[in-house]
Amino acid sequence: MNIIIQITYLVASIFFIFGIKNLSSPKTARRGNLFASIGMLLAIAVTLLDQHVLTYEWIILGFVIGGSIGAIMAVKVQMTGMPEMVGLLNGFGGGASLLVALAEFYKLAPVIPINTGIPIILSLLIGSITLTGSFIAFGKLKGFITGRVVKYPMQHPLNALLLLAVVVAGIVVVIDPTQFELLLIITGVSLLLGVLLVLPIGGADMPVAISLLNSYSGIAAATTGFVLENNVLIIAGAIVGASGIILTLIMCRGMNRSLMNVVLGGWASAGIEGPATGGAAPKGDVKSVDAEELAMILDSVSTCIIIPGYGMAVAQAQHAVRELTNVMEKKGIKVRFAVHPVAGRMPGHMNVLLAEAQVPYDQLFSLEEINDDFPNTDIVIIIGANDVVNPAARHDKSSPIYGMPILNSDYAKTVVINKRSLNVGYAGIDNELFFYPNALMYFGDAKDAMVKLTNELKQM
Ligand code: NDP
Repeated sequence: MNIIIQITYLVASIFFIFGIKNLSSPKTARRGNLFASIGMLLAIAVTLLDQHVLTYEWIILGFVIGGSIGAIMAVKVQMTGMPEMVGLLNGFGGGASLLVALAEFYKLAPVIPINTGIPIILSLLIGSITLTGSFIAFGKLKGFITGRVVKYPMQHPLNALLLLAVVVAGIVVVIDPTQFELLLIITGVSLLLGVLLVLPIGGADMPVAISLLNSYSGIAAATTGFVLENNVLIIAGAIVGASGIILTLIMCRGMNRSLMNVVLGGWASAGIEGPATGGAAPKGDVKSVDAEELAMILDSVSTCIIIPGYGMAVAQAQHAVRELTNVMEKKGIKVRFAVHPVAGRMPGHMNVLLAEAQVPYDQLFSLEEINDDFPNTDIVIIIGANDVVNPAARHDKSSPIYGMPILNSDYAKTVVINKRSLNVGYAGIDNELFFYPNALMYFGDAKDAMVKLTNELKQM
């Protein structure tokens, strides 16, 4: 039986690895999801066949209650509410690791071998931090807790001291596994650490923090795998831990933040939080166009790059955008999409929306793939994007987004910006692009604006 279990775990792990590989591109992401789901189904099924399972009633009850809540949440969640939901799920993952570690301790004590004792303490520490940290992140994104950077006296020395206390107490418990009270103190302090570590992080950095907590939940699962001597849990946890860290680094790079800056929450002051003070407000007049004028311009171009941003998501304009591209292509215009890594409010936000509207994958280009093509492009249409095209990132050292890689839309012959006003985006800073000589503002809600433009273009 054990051989069958181990072989099935191996097969499940292979599915996980192919799953994550396929998830790295929008073209293959659905297949990746399917592979990972098959792997998880295999892992769960074979674990349930394991002779260690004493009673199935509680498992079925938990499955029905938890599964129903999860299914309802997944169906009801809005696309823009995904970061909160992911945050909450990370927290539950950490909480599960914490509970398993506690249960194993009570089951095995007073004789716990060191190779089980150490992972128990690590699971308690990382699982607890993930649990409370994720709940704080959820609260910040939902607005239950202030989204501002919270600073408190002796913030970093205090956290370092608490961490040190957990490590020292952990060593004592590993050496002497009869210290139940100390184990509870370790759990309590670790839960407190989760709160103290995430509370200082500004709401603006929360999606990055959530990605990091996702990685923590994976590491906690992997250490729990060592506690239970369960290979598939170790492998799956390691994959989640590693991919979470990679995603966090990609997001940090896209936002021009250092990982340390996010992890230490408020250590440096470069955080994007509230209206920024840096950056001189751009001056001058903007030129605006209406749908009819823009349709006339489009009638004479041959190449176009569309840059979607958060506003497209808010307006749910992706289908209208797709319809516009269909009409443009019928007129012989070559249309491509430029997707910035942090456009929108979560990783892959624009890819998901454009895929939903069935925009072909080969029309989507990343920043690296398309940024050199802007000077040879007749027209760029920016739909609800702001920070990701703000040229201040290139030259204004006082700007909070200085150094962030941006899409070079301003290098195109004409750049049209669709949004409702000249208001700021997420970083809270003005955008000098709106005042550039080759820029035209096309004001309005993205969906309405795209529908009107498409209708005008059809009549040309
Ligand atoms: P921005 O937040 O910079 O700008 C969005 C713009 O959309 C606003 O200026 C707003 O202007 C406009 N808008 C809002 N509603 C509508 C609407 N209904 N129709 C048309 N326009 C609308 O978005 P970007 O995508 O350019 O940049 C993303 C920002 O989010 C970056 O600063 C990034 O660092 C940050 N971020 C991204 C994360 C990610 O994972 N993707 C995670 C965390 C942060 P107006 O009010 O005038 O309409």
